[in-house]
Amino acid sequence: MINRPPERVFVTGGAGFIGSHVVARLLAEGDRVTVFDNLSRGKVGRIEPYLETGDCALVRGDLLDPNALSEALRGHDVVWHLAANTDIRAGTRAVDVDLKHCVVGTCNLLEAMRQNGVRDLLFASSGVVYGDFAADAMPESAGPLLPVSLYAAGKLSGEAFVSAYCHLFGLRAWMFRFANVVGRGTDHGVVYDFIQKLRRDPTELEVLGDGNQLKPYLLIDECVDGMLYAYRRIPLSDARPADVFNLGTDTVTRVSDIARIVIEELGLVGARIRFTGGRRGWPGDAPVLRMDVEKMRRLGWSTTRTSDEAVRAAARQLIAEHDGVATSPARD
Ligand code: NAD
Repeated sequence: MINRPPERVFVTGGAGFIGSHVVARLLAEGDRVTVFDNLSRGKVGRIEPYLETGDCALVRGDLLDPNALSEALRGHDVVWHLAANTDIRAGTRAVDVDLKHCVVGTCNLLEAMRQNGVRDLLFASSGVVYGDFAADAMPESAGPLLPVSLYAAGKLSGEAFVSAYCHLFGLRAWMFRFANVVGRGTDHGVVYDFIQKLRRDPTELEVLGDGNQLKPYLLIDECVDGMLYAYRRIPLSDARPADVFNLGTDTVTRVSDIARIVIEELGLVGARIRFTGGRRGWPGDAPVLRMDVEKMRRLGWSTTRTSDEAVRAAARQLIAEHDGVATSPARD
């Protein structure tokens, strides 16, 4: 329902998993959208139907090209910043990837916003900023924050630059530390990986680590909904021009349970689960994340699904997608 004038929205990473859902939602709400994406991991196919409507344009551009970025941004009202390196393991092999695509890219965007007088920013951060201390539910006020991957360091640095630009140059930012986002349209993440592995070998599922990794999972539609809710309902002031919100659920799912759920949903009850062992799935993985989501709850928003329910709904969506069956949020 539109309860405000339509906006011209600039979505970085809009051809990615989360970005393409953001684009769909904003268009449905009556906004006009420009997608800015270098298509390194993004896919035009995800937004192709919207490009034909005339309300959505795609600029193939890179955050690391400040001139192209500034030119494309001109004339927009608000930015949803989702572009980033999202391959956490790649950041361990090529150690400048997160510095470039999470930190420098974000700084270039902030500078382009300052130059063009674009004030409002929604920033996709992550619960990974809490590092390896999140055995207790972490509130937004937790600290010190000591990331254990270059990706997490990139996200936390991004938050810091966003905050500084807001305080110095009059920008306003809603920063969201996402739980693990799952659901239709994704091409990464544990639920997707398990389905892919089981499609290749229906008799055995390899699980990285000991299976005891424990994290919150958030269904994609709820992720977009939570961001939009905060942006519309939570006014930021000059005194507090940047704020950070945990976006997820206080429930968590064990990786071994994700394996069980995916096996059940694929109907492969005889499949064996083989754990590679070790606390972490890979170097840089924080095995436990618990998020305190009271702040969003107090503001009037919470998820409708537990983490387990989000995982099962995502598995159903992804299996149906593979089988060519359309799903809608109401059916999952
Ligand atoms: P994704 O990889 O599907 O989307 C990222 C998009 O950014 C891709 O389309 C890619 O082509 C684009 N991109 C990357 N570098 C770019 C650059 N330099 N210039 C222009 N475009 C560039 O990932 P996603 O899962 O949709 O994640 C979106 C955002 O949410 C990211 O910032 C990610 O860090 C954050 N996030 C995601 C999750 C999750 O579970 N998926 C969790 C926490 C935070």
